[in-house]
Amino acid sequence: DSSDKVPSKGENPIQIAIGAKKDEDFSAWYTDVSHFGVVLIKADMLDYYNVSGCYILKPWSYSIWEIIQRWFDDKIKALGVQNAYFPMFVSQKVLEREKDHIEGFSPEVAWVTRAGQSELEEHIAIRPTSETAMYPYYSKWIKSHRDLPLKLNQWNSVVRWEFKSPQPFIRTREFLWQEGHTAHLTREEADKEVLEILDLYRRVYEELLAVPVIPGVKSEKEKFAGGLYTTTVEGFIPTSGRGIQGATSHCLGTNFSNSNMFDIFVEDPNDPVGKAKIYVWQNSWGLSTRSIGVMVMVHGDDQGLVLPPRVASVQAVVVPCGITAKTTDEERKRINDKCEELAQSLRAADIRAKADLRDGYTPGWKFNDWEQKGVPLRLEIGPQDIAKNQTLTVRRDTGKKDPVSLEGLPQTVSALLEDIQKDLFIRAKETYQERVKAITKWEDLVPALDNKNVVVIPWCEREQCEDDIKERSARAAEPTDERAPSAGAKSLCIPFDQSKWDPVEPGKTKCVACGQDAKRWAMFGRSY
Ligand code: AMP
Repeated sequence: DSSDKVPSKGENPIQIAIGAKKDEDFSAWYTDVSHFGVVLIKADMLDYYNVSGCYILKPWSYSIWEIIQRWFDDKIKALGVQNAYFPMFVSQKVLEREKDHIEGFSPEVAWVTRAGQSELEEHIAIRPTSETAMYPYYSKWIKSHRDLPLKLNQWNSVVRWEFKSPQPFIRTREFLWQEGHTAHLTREEADKEVLEILDLYRRVYEELLAVPVIPGVKSEKEKFAGGLYTTTVEGFIPTSGRGIQGATSHCLGTNFSNSNMFDIFVEDPNDPVGKAKIYVWQNSWGLSTRSIGVMVMVHGDDQGLVLPPRVASVQAVVVPCGITAKTTDEERKRINDKCEELAQSLRAADIRAKADLRDGYTPGWKFNDWEQKGVPLRLEIGPQDIAKNQTLTVRRDTGKKDPVSLEGLPQTVSALLEDIQKDLFIRAKETYQERVKAITKWEDLVPALDNKNVVVIPWCEREQCEDDIKERSARAAEPTDERAPSAGAKSLCIPFDQSKWDPVEPGKTKCVACGQDAKRWAMFGRSY
């Protein structure tokens, strides 16, 4: 297993060029440890760890998570959500209470079976998600309709011992996320919140990470184990042509609250005499560090990472130039001071700016270093720039260079950063739109997938048909590249916005896969 390799001390990532080209060998570019010069390492985002499927998030990636956290935390607090913390351990009895839920999760649950030398009488599970850890207490705490809605969230990690090959950020055995768990008196309230949260997830992807997503609802087969229905924002990785589930907001209905499960109910406030029981309507919703991996895959290039300004911990780096062996100490100080002064003026305008005054590195080396790390904007300052009261700006996303006046620099830089943010999103969105192919004949479906697209088809929404599609689309593909196996297509989501395609006419429009009556357009694709 690749991640069992622990790098030795001498392997300084900076000294190794990015060996793999994104378009030629995507998996090596992203992650392959044998190339140990891949984008995540070069950008100093992560290091491998000696437990397979686990990775170290270094400050350069953790800072992205902090920005996402801060943004999302403010938003959910405005919706009345409070943070709390529950233990990571779940007793076997409680974990196994919801049958569908445990069926879905049991293959991936990690267990504590021993403490020191002694075997534990009752094995204890490590949470793969916290429904079963939390809901016994919801039952205890919710005694009246006045206790509703209850809206708790935790920022924590969960463990899923996944057997599909692990990928940094995208699929890891321990991952960081938030999990929100809410209880409501009415279905209406629960339904409304599901979509409010989903829209926040859309905005994390689109407004922070500049990654376009398609919101929709999961098929019955793909919905959260034990839930009523699952909504999702689905992303797309153009280089591999695969879909990826961005984040999910589930309505659990009363499946967990009913009397056979966690028995979470209140007396009907509209029936004070009869004291009818109302089992609460529950939601759960989660966004993980996978989002960072999607951002890397969508925006990175052969030079390394490309960070959208809103999540970059350094948005602009000022690099002193024109310093040679002959430069006097005095002149060197003058240039460095100017860089520091500019960085400070940018910071005063709330731009995350840094002057790179490291001694002993050439400007070229520094350019390369910050390019690998994906810093959105570089400002170069040399003696001639100072004389002309200007700086050369270089965009990481396009490489475009522009001399700009030092007069009003913070405003110019702010505007440039906004342009970069916007342009990254627009380019990614155009690509995604081009690569969602509307298919109306089965013969066209597999070729479209093989050309690195995802597809939308009029679909009957039957599970049997979904299984068939997976099988038929896997068999048909040619297994040419072992790292991109010809996996079958699964349903990614049924997009909420159906308006882009011809209306599905009841009784008339047929399912592309099986010929039965189609219900809605559904997006299918190979996926992560
Ligand atoms: P779920 O509780 O299964 O709906 O998962 C919530 C979200 O966590 C999903 O939408 C994924 O984006 C993310 N996720 C699920 N499994 C993993 C994993 N192994 N590594 C990283 N993120 C994950």
